[in-house]
Amino acid sequence: MVEYQKYIQEIKKYAVENNVPIMEDEGMNFLTTFVIKNQVKSVLEIGTAIGYSAIMMALCQPSIRITSIEKDEVRYLEALKNIKKFHLENRITLIFNDALDVRLDEEFDLVFIDAAKAQEIKFFNLFSKNLTSKGYIVTDNIYFHGLVEKNEKEIKSHNLRGLVRKIKEYISFLNDNPDFDTVVYRVGDGIAVSKRKV
Ligand code: SAH
Ligand code: MG
Repeated sequence: MVEYQKYIQEIKKYAVENNVPIMEDEGMNFLTTFVIKNQVKSVLEIGTAIGYSAIMMALCQPSIRITSIEKDEVRYLEALKNIKKFHLENRITLIFNDALDVRLDEEFDLVFIDAAKAQEIKFFNLFSKNLTSKGYIVTDNIYFHGLVEKNEKEIKSHNLRGLVRKIKEYISFLNDNPDFDTVVYRVGDGIAVSKRKV
């Protein structure tokens, strides 16, 4: 267990040094608490990065299984390495591919979307098919470092403005969705929890 704490610190350090946008502590605590409270047994994660959030979720619960998709090879290889350190290779399955090209037959209790912020509607529509009837879709970075609530004129970069617009479109998509109810929590970088309407 002491070893594990050390490995987690090493992963966090690597993330800072290599600009890998892993979840911050507040969001991570929210997600692990969510997994425990809702007795989540299976997770599909879009955006593994270096395996941090997948490992943290797997450690909450000895029976939880995770499938996670990452398209960046360097990060994928780093994630494989990290998962081995925690001996979690039998419970975390990594897929090295663009998530938009991945089709899965399995169903999951939780789909966790934490990848390209411009593609969130596509990820949602694609992977809501892989959700159990009582499952949840959780999306990270709904406030996108506070930029989503900022006046657009204050955002100097054209690219960033485009991304923020995409996230706003995603929020409207969630709010107007005929099949899902969504609550956005003001924790971490903003986390949306969506559940199929009954
Ligand atoms: N969930 C991770 C952080 C993920 S960062 C954690 O908290 O530990 C987002 C990751 O999504 C990046 O590594 C990026 O390469 C990946 N990504 C972005 N678009 C993707 C896509 N279309 N398919 C697969 N991975 C994608
Ligand atoms: Mg994130």
